[in-house]
Amino acid sequence: MFTVPELGYAYDALGENISADIMQLHHDKHHQTYVDKLNAALATHPELGEKTLVELVGNLDAVPEDIRTAVRNHGGGHYNHSLFWKVMSPNGGGEPTGALLDGIVAKYGSYQAFTDEFTAKALAVFGSGWAWLQPDLSIVTTPNQDVPFTSGQPEPVIGLDVWEHAYYLDYKNKRDDYVKAFWNVVDWNFAAERYAQPAHV
Ligand code: MN
Repeated sequence: MFTVPELGYAYDALGENISADIMQLHHDKHHQTYVDKLNAALATHPELGEKTLVELVGNLDAVPEDIRTAVRNHGGGHYNHSLFWKVMSPNGGGEPTGALLDGIVAKYGSYQAFTDEFTAKALAVFGSGWAWLQPDLSIVTTPNQDVPFTSGQPEPVIGLDVWEHAYYLDYKNKRDDYVKAFWNVVDWNFAAERYAQPAHV
């Protein structure tokens, strides 16, 4: 049985960037629903009980066809949100340092150019989805709750939820303002650790 991880900070800790109302609803209700529906699907296939979340969502071909869509959507939702809570911090913002900053500057020219490109791709996601910084420092997007890796491949460094449920209460239709606020709370220390040593969330 999978469970929703603790948020790690108070609902209101991200201040005006993301409100307590959104954080509580997003973590306690949306994420919980993904976990509940993932568990319900897996309960019909006890033989999958030994598999990790990454093994499940990273290799959907190995998931029985009758629950493949449920695992893709709700398992992906569980993975993506579990990472997302850690990508943000009340002490976040600023710029990355060390090898991560060096890599970003080498690839994009500057931190600003990197955030401009990430922001543009996040805004270009049609409907619901995610924007990701990959371990090779490329920027990709996925629709719905699809994860940006397959089993055995390194997992993303950071991800940004651009579903409307992530920002509508605060920002209404203005996804650009939400993405701007996201940069104020990104935990670059956490990102640097994942960049240096890829690890499961
Ligand atoms: Mn979400």
